[in-house]
Amino acid sequence: MSILKLQSLVANKWVDTGPVRRELLDPVTQEPIAFLQDGLPDFSEMLYYARNIGRSNIQSLTFHKRALLLKKLGVFLLEHKEKYYELSTRSGATRTDSWIDIDGGIGTLFTYSGKGRRELPNSFHVIDGDPEILSKDATFIGQHVYSPLEGSAVHINAFNFPCWGMLEKFAPCFLAGMPSIIKPASQTCYITEAIVRDIVSSNILPLGSLQLVCGDVGALLKQLNYQDVVTFTGSQATGRIIKTNACLIDNNVRFHMETDSLNSIILGHDVTSDSLEFRMFVREVVTEMTVKAGQKCTAIRRVIVPESIKDIVVEKLKERLAQVKIGDPRLLETKMGPLASISHREDVTREAEKLAASCETVIGAIESHSNAFTEPVVFLSQLPTTECPSNLIEVFGPMCTIQTYQNDDEAIDIARAGKGSLVGSIVSNDRNVTTKLIDGLFAHHGRLLVLNRHCQKTSTGHGSPLPVLLHGGPGRAGGAEELGGLRSIYAYMQRTAIQGHPDMLTSICQKWLPGATKNLTHKHPFQMHFDELSIGDSLRTKSRKVSLDDIEHFAHFTGDRFYAHMDEALARANPFFEGRVAHGYFIISAAAGLFVDPEPGPVLANYGLESLRFTQPVYPDDEITVSLTCKHKTAREGERYGEVRWDTTVLNQDNLVVAQYDVLTLVEQSSH
Ligand code: NAP
Repeated sequence: MSILKLQSLVANKWVDTGPVRRELLDPVTQEPIAFLQDGLPDFSEMLYYARNIGRSNIQSLTFHKRALLLKKLGVFLLEHKEKYYELSTRSGATRTDSWIDIDGGIGTLFTYSGKGRRELPNSFHVIDGDPEILSKDATFIGQHVYSPLEGSAVHINAFNFPCWGMLEKFAPCFLAGMPSIIKPASQTCYITEAIVRDIVSSNILPLGSLQLVCGDVGALLKQLNYQDVVTFTGSQATGRIIKTNACLIDNNVRFHMETDSLNSIILGHDVTSDSLEFRMFVREVVTEMTVKAGQKCTAIRRVIVPESIKDIVVEKLKERLAQVKIGDPRLLETKMGPLASISHREDVTREAEKLAASCETVIGAIESHSNAFTEPVVFLSQLPTTECPSNLIEVFGPMCTIQTYQNDDEAIDIARAGKGSLVGSIVSNDRNVTTKLIDGLFAHHGRLLVLNRHCQKTSTGHGSPLPVLLHGGPGRAGGAEELGGLRSIYAYMQRTAIQGHPDMLTSICQKWLPGATKNLTHKHPFQMHFDELSIGDSLRTKSRKVSLDDIEHFAHFTGDRFYAHMDEALARANPFFEGRVAHGYFIISAAAGLFVDPEPGPVLANYGLESLRFTQPVYPDDEITVSLTCKHKTAREGERYGEVRWDTTVLNQDNLVVAQYDVLTLVEQSSH
C-alpha cells in the first residue's frame, strides 16, 4: 500500500505545508501508513474563508435545509465507509472498535438531521421559551432568541475517535449555522483526512462548511475572537494548555473542554454472585476494558464492589478476560487489538506502574516489550479512598482498579473521588439502593447508567455516548456538554433578550406574541393556504351559551361524571368552584365547534394541542367565544404542506380567558 501524504484543507484547496515531519505507523506491523508534513497552513486564509464564505453559505440555509444536508452526507458516507474501516484497522482497531467510531459517527449526522427537522423551526433563529410581559398593558415585552455566532468553530480532537470525534462536533455546529475547522489528533488523522476528502468531493456541503488541519494548530488559536468557538477533546494536560492560552482568555473565546475521566461502576450491595445482575456487571467491565483496548474516554477505570464479594469479582473477571483474544485486528477472531502506537503503549506502561506501586496486580501483568500490544490488567486497592492512585491517574488502556466498600456512603465517596466523570454505572436490582447511590452521584457525573435484569437486552452500555443524551461531565471531565440532542447546538449560538412592543417583536421573531395586533381576515383562516396566511391573521368567533344540559350530555356521553360537574352541593364545597362547572374538555370541544370551518379546504389535519391551561371555571349560562390567531408557520422542505400553530384563546362573556392553548395543524400550500 502506498504511503499517504497528508494535507490540510484550506479554503477548499488541499495544501502541502512542508517537508515530512512524522511518519504514522501501523501499530501491528510498524509499517508507515502516512506522513505528516512540517510547517503550518495559512491560518489567516482559513479563518477568513470560514468566517466569510463558509458562514454566509451555511447561514443562508434554514435549519431544515441544513438538516437535510446532514442526512444526505450521512447516506453518502455510509456508501463509502468500507474505505474508512480499512484505514481504521490499520490504526489497531477491530471491526467492532471501528463500528463505534465510523458507524457511530455517521449515526450522529442522521440524529441531528432528524432532530433539526422535527424540533427546530424552518428558519434562522430559535425562539427560546415564552415571552415575558414587562408592562401592565402588555405594550412592552421581552423574548429570548438564539442566533448563530459569526465566527468559526475550531474542533481539536483526540486520537481515539478520528471519525466520531469529527462528526459528533460537526453535526450540531453545522446545524447551528457555524463553519468548522477540524484538527484531528496526529496519530490517526489519516482516517479523518480520508473522510474529509470524500466529503469535499461529494459537493454536498456548501463551500467553507469544513476545513482541516493535519498537524499543529497552536498558532491558529492566536487569531480567534469572541465570535469563534474552540472545542477540545483530549488529555487534561493539553486541555490546561489550551484553556490558559492568552488569546483565548484576552478575547473571551468560547472554549468547551472534554478531557479524561476516571469513570466508575458500582456493584450494588444487593447483588449476589449467582444473579443475572452480577453476570451483567462482569460483562460490562470486561467490555469496557477491552473495546478499543480501553482507549475510550468513557471506559470504566474504577470498579467499586462490596468488600464481601471482591474475591469472586476477581475470579469472574479473570475467567472472562482470559477469553478475550488479543491480536491483529485484521483477524476475525481478534477481540482486542494493540494500543494506537508504541509510544502510547509506553505512556500506558508508565502510568500503570504508578498504580502497581501501591495496588495489588490481581489479573494480568504490566509488560515492557517493543510492540504496541498490552494485555488487560486489573489492580486491587485496599488503600483509603484519598490515597488510592487510581482516583487520580488515568491509564488510557485496558486497565482498571477494583476498590472495595463497606456501605453505600463509602461507595459514593469512592465514585466522587474521580472529581467529576463523564459516566458512572450502578448495577443493582434494588430501587432503594440505586436511589441512594444515584443521589450521591448526580452532581459529579454527566451521564449515569442504571443496569438491572429488566434492561439487560436493550441497554446501550456504559461506554457509549448517544447523540440524544448529554456527553460530558463536570470537573476532571472538562465541564463541557456535547451531544444531548439539540442542547449542543447552543454552544455555537448567542442568546439575546429582545425587548420592545409586541408588534415589533412579532415581526422580528416571526411568531405572534401576546399583545401584538390581530388581523381579522375577510376569509376564514382555515380557508387560507399556507403561503397566503400571515402571522397574526385572526378569527373571532360568534359566542355560545353553555347550558346545564350541555354539561349533563357531555358527562353521560363521555362517562366523565366527576362530582364538580354533576353535584351542585359538592361542587360548592370545592374551594375553586361556586357551583357545577363545565368540563374543561367540553370547553375545548365546544371551542372547536366555534372556530372550525366545516368545508373542505387547505387545512389537512389537526395533529395536536400544546400548552393547554384552563384558567377560569365555566358555569351554566356563561357564554364562550374564541379568538384564533396564526401564531407560527413552519414550511416543510419538499412537502406540499406546512405546520401552522394557532394561538387559541377561549373567553367568557366578561372577556376573561377561560382556556388558552396552541392548536397544531397541517396546511396545504397553494397550487401556484
Ligand atoms: P492529547 O494528547 O491531549 O491531544 C488531543 C488533541 O490536542 C490532539 O489533536 C493534539 O494534536 C492536540 N494538541 C496537543 N497539544 C496541543 C496544543 N498545545 N495546542 C493545541 N492542540 C494541541 O490527547 P490524545 O492522546 O489525542 O487523546 C487521549 C485523551 O483524550 C485521553 O486522556 C482521553 O481520556 C481523552 N478523551 C476524552 C474524550 C471526552 O469526550 N471527554 C474523548 C476522547 C478522548 P496532536 O495529536 O497533533 O498532538
